[in-house]
Amino acid sequence: MAQCKEQVWDQWHYHDCRRNAVEDGYCRQHHPRSVQARQEASNKRQKEKEAQSPAARLERAQERITELEKMLSLLYYDVQAYGFPDGSLIGQEIANSLERVKPYLGEI
Ligand SMILES: [Zn+2]
Repeated sequence: MAQCKEQVWDQWHYHDCRRNAVEDGYCRQHHPRSVQARQEASNKRQKEKEAQSPAARLERAQERITELEKMLSLLYYDVQAYGFPDGSLIGQEIANSLERVKPYLGEI
């Protein structure tokens, strides 16, 4: 059986991969499809890791704060313009909007 045609680095020099070729002249590990799949999985893990970094969380928090500040300014405008009468339609809409904001406030 033919050997895999990939060259591998062993921290000292390159040599031929010693595994048997199973498809297109490559072993399972070195077949371009496997290499690509591992690379994509690695990229995905890296992206997930970066998304949890303090810098990324800070950026998301700042975006959320900006979004909440816009909502608050709109609500402030509504309250200034229409008041906040109990049971009124606009009062109910404002109350609903405030309910939507609430979950974000504790999450950052
Ligand atoms: Zn190989």
